[in-house]
Amino acid sequence: MEDFLNYKRLCNVCRAELTTINAEVAPGWQIHVCEKCLESAKQNFIWICMHCGNVYIRPKMLVLKRLTDPMLKHAYQQCADEQIIQGIDVCVECEPDAIMQYVGAAKNEKKDGHC
Ligand SMILES: [Zn+2]
Ligand SMILES: [Zn+2]
Repeated sequence: MEDFLNYKRLCNVCRAELTTINAEVAPGWQIHVCEKCLESAKQNFIWICMHCGNVYIRPKMLVLKRLTDPMLKHAYQQCADEQIIQGIDVCVECEPDAIMQYVGAAKNEKKDGHC
C-alpha cells in the first residue's frame, strides 16, 4: 500500500481518485489532481484551503453572475476559460466572504517575493 501511494497520490480535490497529475495551486504549493477534477475545473472554480484542506467548488457561471464589482468580475472573466484550481490561505469557514476576492486578488497583484 505504501509503495502504491508513492507511485500515485490521492487527489487533493475529491480525495477519491489516485493520480500522478500535479498542479501548482499557489506559489510553491503543489497538490495532486485527478483527471476528473481537472475536467470539472473547466466549468468550475476550485479553491483549496491551505489552512484546513477544505475544497470549494463553485460553478463559474454562478460566480460571474453574482459578482457586482466590475473589477472583480473582469478578473474572473479573464480566467473563465482556464482550469482554475487555486490555493487559498483561508476558506469561508475560516473567514466568510473572503473566498470571493481570491481570484481577483491573485490576478491583480502579483505576489512576487511572497513565500
Ligand atoms: Zn479528484
Ligand atoms: Zn480553511
